[in-house]
Amino acid sequence: MAQLQRVSSRCLHCVPAEIEEMLHPSLMRPVVSSSIAGVVPESDKEGGANGGAGGSYTRNVSLSMAPETRARAIEDRLSRTMMVPKAMHSLTKLYRTGPGPSSSHTMGPTRAAQRFKARNPDCKYFVVTLYGSLALTGRGHLTDKAIINTLKPGETKIIWDYVKVWERHTNAMKFQALDGPDGKVVDEYMAYSVGGGAIVDDSSRGGAPNTPEGEVYEVYKVHSMREVLQWTEKEGKPMWQFVYENEGEKIDGFLRDIWTTMKDCINRGLFATGVLPGGLNLRRRANAMYLKSRRMQPVFARNIRLFSYALAVSEENANSGIVVTAPTCGACGVVPAVLRWTSEMMENTEEEIIHALAVAGLFGNIAKTNASISGAEVGCQGEVGVACAMAAAACCQLMGGSPAQIEHAAEMALEHHLGLNCCPVEGLVQIPCIDRNAHAATRAVDCAEFALAMDGKHMISYDEVVLAMKLSGLDMGAEYKETSLGGLSVTYNLEEQQEQAEKAKEEERVKKMEAEIAQLRAEKK
Ligand code: SF4
Repeated sequence: MAQLQRVSSRCLHCVPAEIEEMLHPSLMRPVVSSSIAGVVPESDKEGGANGGAGGSYTRNVSLSMAPETRARAIEDRLSRTMMVPKAMHSLTKLYRTGPGPSSSHTMGPTRAAQRFKARNPDCKYFVVTLYGSLALTGRGHLTDKAIINTLKPGETKIIWDYVKVWERHTNAMKFQALDGPDGKVVDEYMAYSVGGGAIVDDSSRGGAPNTPEGEVYEVYKVHSMREVLQWTEKEGKPMWQFVYENEGEKIDGFLRDIWTTMKDCINRGLFATGVLPGGLNLRRRANAMYLKSRRMQPVFARNIRLFSYALAVSEENANSGIVVTAPTCGACGVVPAVLRWTSEMMENTEEEIIHALAVAGLFGNIAKTNASISGAEVGCQGEVGVACAMAAAACCQLMGGSPAQIEHAAEMALEHHLGLNCCPVEGLVQIPCIDRNAHAATRAVDCAEFALAMDGKHMISYDEVVLAMKLSGLDMGAEYKETSLGGLSVTYNLEEQQEQAEKAKEEERVKKMEAEIAQLRAEKK
């Protein structure tokens, strides 16, 4: 058990050798999986009751197959993974405001804890079991603290279950209310944090979050960019108007509040200094970068200023500051940075920025509906990749792009993030996350400029790249989906880890020798 405790704290590097056999097999091997776990959920076999596009599949396509067999296999695979037509939720369910550092690991669990507390307002003792990615990276992502604080003044015991993987979603939580310190369970609740701060539970309809009475989430009757483009063509209206016509005018006030929160976050982050919490000793760099950019020639300052805005937001996120999921906390720096930078360059009005935010949300929503925005499900392509697509679309809109050019910009931005893994060092949303936001911000601007220089015609559509992201996520090993069991999480500080392992081995050897000598002496006596 002591070994297991270390998995989600500081010794992730030595996990594979030491406790491989103690973990769920699917967490240790790249497997074809319809969820992070590599298991094939019954729900998926039946068409995706977990709200995903559904459709598990077997990786049965190979170049050595006869052409007809291969074509059939590809067709079969696609048909099982294709988008299932369904409505999209309101942007109010995509852009959420709350404390970082992780929408799935802090915001989602906080919301689940709030629901459970509302069910048991007088309960004084709780037990919360965290599974899958929540167990493996929950300490670094501050999941336990978020839950404990929400359930206060009740006392909460957290259990980290690294072995059990739930079929519905890897980010599972079981809440139990007890009638005494070691008492009987009087209420129990299973919830799943499915990305972007959203929660589904066993009573959710088809994976949709529980809907408080009177509130309608599914405001869009379409779910693909193809349909949105058809609408803009037919109506002769811009994309942002599609959002307003589906959501109603009230979306304007909501987006204004979201933009205010984003701006506040940039401003706080730009002037904060010091070391980020968590033990990596990572310094905040937004302030220094911002100051340097003010003294540079404009041509050099371009990227540095944009970097500084993205770092400001992502550093605030790592410090548990208030951020907006765009589409997640881990990727929250890209959209605000690009909106602020572009609007400064282009001298856009507040209204134009709000409209660009609406367009960005539309692209995020399509990725969320038809694939995933959860690093635990599809890796970082679903977080920073989608954020980059959203930002590219917004930037292109602010620069006056046509709907076809906007779609092209977003498509390119996501296309060039395909296969991007999630391997947060020490389970913290810091390395590679913070810098990754900054680089995605510049790529978003590049994609917008590229699209503007073209006529909007291109070979791959945004819908196709979203599907490709989903397929890539299914193929990706669980090590690369927010478990801190692969990639940089393993290679970080490798030399030091090896030295420590050598030292520990040597100490063990000396101890053994001393024990043998002591035994020989005792026998001689
Ligand atoms: S690597 Fe990407 S997906 Fe993973 S925690 Fe960081 S931002 Fe999120």
